[in-house]
Amino acid sequence: MVVPGHGTANEPAPVYSRVVLKLSGEALLGGQRNFGIHHDTVRRIAEEIGRVHARGVEIAVVIGGGNIVRGVEASNHGLDRVAGDYMGMLATVINALALRDALERLDIQTRVQSAIAMQQVAEPFIPRRAIRHLEKGRVVILAAGTGNPFFTTDTTAALRAAEIGADVLLKATKVDGIYTADPLKDPSAARLHHLSYMDVLNRGLAVMDNTALTLCMDNGTPIVVFDLLAEGSIDRVVLGEDIGTRVDADGGSA
Ligand code: UDP
Repeated sequence: MVVPGHGTANEPAPVYSRVVLKLSGEALLGGQRNFGIHHDTVRRIAEEIGRVHARGVEIAVVIGGGNIVRGVEASNHGLDRVAGDYMGMLATVINALALRDALERLDIQTRVQSAIAMQQVAEPFIPRRAIRHLEKGRVVILAAGTGNPFFTTDTTAALRAAEIGADVLLKATKVDGIYTADPLKDPSAARLHHLSYMDVLNRGLAVMDNTALTLCMDNGTPIVVFDLLAEGSIDRVVLGEDIGTRVDADGGSA
């Protein structure tokens, strides 16, 4: 059990004891691919999770499925939206199994819980059981989104963070936080270190979908948006370093 703020002389202490990590399906693509799972990338992500796990931080991972199917995209090609969304949710289960395998190869005990019943593949999502696994030091991978079409895995992450009492939602992306403008197009774009939920909503900043953001706001779950590709980034966020962008109720003004 980690007590935030109590490290050893040599080791800094984590500032969070229970986190929800939102990994998009895209994160598993690796390099130039635009479909499927790049297993070396999954192994690298598992190692990054392993570093944080080794600090005693409880980690639940909500995994996306955009590397395989997104319901909206499928419906743009004529597929029924609800069918597409269920396909997307099943895609998250495929990703969850890949991540579980990579974690277990590192001797990290892992449980997959699914919001859609599939007893041969995963446990059902049961919040109290998920918490129990976390307390026993297992990484819990939450698959199949919310189990409902028309939602996203960002919203799932916000929901699960509230359900299991996480201290923070860590939103892994391809950029190192939220910027005033697109840093690839505008050289004067600056990273915003700390924002309030209302700043993000009012300025229409693309952090997460509004349902996810509003859920975090209603439940007081802070969000840290950070770059997954930078080595050690999950660990650095958990140690409280000023990387990425933090979104919470006071936005840094308190
Ligand atoms: N999905 C859904 N309900 C949920 C979560 C996800 O219907 O509660 C579907 C939806 O079609 C979505 C797909 O699963 O596009 C994959 O999830 P998401 O797009 O959030 O994955 P990511 O972008 O994080 O890879």
